[in-house]
Amino acid sequence: MTPQRRGLLIILSSPSGAGKSTLAKRLRTWDAEIEFSVSATTRAPRPGEVDGKDYHFLNEAEFKTQVADEGMLEHAHVFGNFYGSPRAPVQSAIQAGRDVLFDIDWQGAQQITNSALGAHTLSIFLLPPSITELRHRLEKRGQDDKATIARRMEKSWDEISHWGAYDFVIVNDDLDQTEAQLKTIISATRLRRSQQPGLTEHVRRLQSEFEELS
Ligand code: ADP
Ligand code: 5GP
Repeated sequence: MTPQRRGLLIILSSPSGAGKSTLAKRLRTWDAEIEFSVSATTRAPRPGEVDGKDYHFLNEAEFKTQVADEGMLEHAHVFGNFYGSPRAPVQSAIQAGRDVLFDIDWQGAQQITNSALGAHTLSIFLLPPSITELRHRLEKRGQDDKATIARRMEKSWDEISHWGAYDFVIVNDDLDQTEAQLKTIISATRLRRSQQPGLTEHVRRLQSEFEELS
């Protein structure tokens, strides 16, 4: 019998524009069972963003109430707004053996890694091939005005400076190669002993069978 699997909390962090959302989408195409943690934020929706799908858009009072009620697994202040990962959907997914993917900053990654769920966390940091390329990607994305891009670039070094706290670090140069590397890391981490709660029982059965046969 295949031992049952426990869900992983997969954290993707990087400076803005390095490729998190692009790669998160590719990972979900690879394995539709991976759930995306829809964050709550107090920032205004961008054109095309859907409430409940891209983010849960809350006002500051609503956000603070959720934090006070311990409804957030982690939360942080990023680019002048509050962001947080709702706790309940994560708990139910990982208990059901499904992985949850987080696109969050280093502060959120640190809080989850240091929480009781730390043993079931896989953290990955994406570095850009160069700062010039990072700026180019932000411009190419066409989502932000010049001032916002400048603000994101200013913050990028702060985010990059936390690369050393992550389990894995990938330089996202070639997109296909990064995608393949992410899949390798996730597939291997799913086999961590701590992710296979049924192993003890399985080994017990092997032992009984061994004893019966000898
Ligand atoms: P993030 O979610 O980290 O802010 P995005 O996924 O939105 O970044 O990527 C920013 C832009 O860079 C997008 O236009 C995306 O298509 C592009 N991009 C991402 N990864 C690569 C890559 N390896 N090579 C070239 N362009 C990339
Ligand atoms: P954006 O406003 O561009 O969607 O996101 C800005 C930054 O906030 C990104 O670096 C993103 O990773 C981070 N972020 C998004 N959701 C969360 C969250 O729930 N928690 C934390 N800590 N950071 C988040």
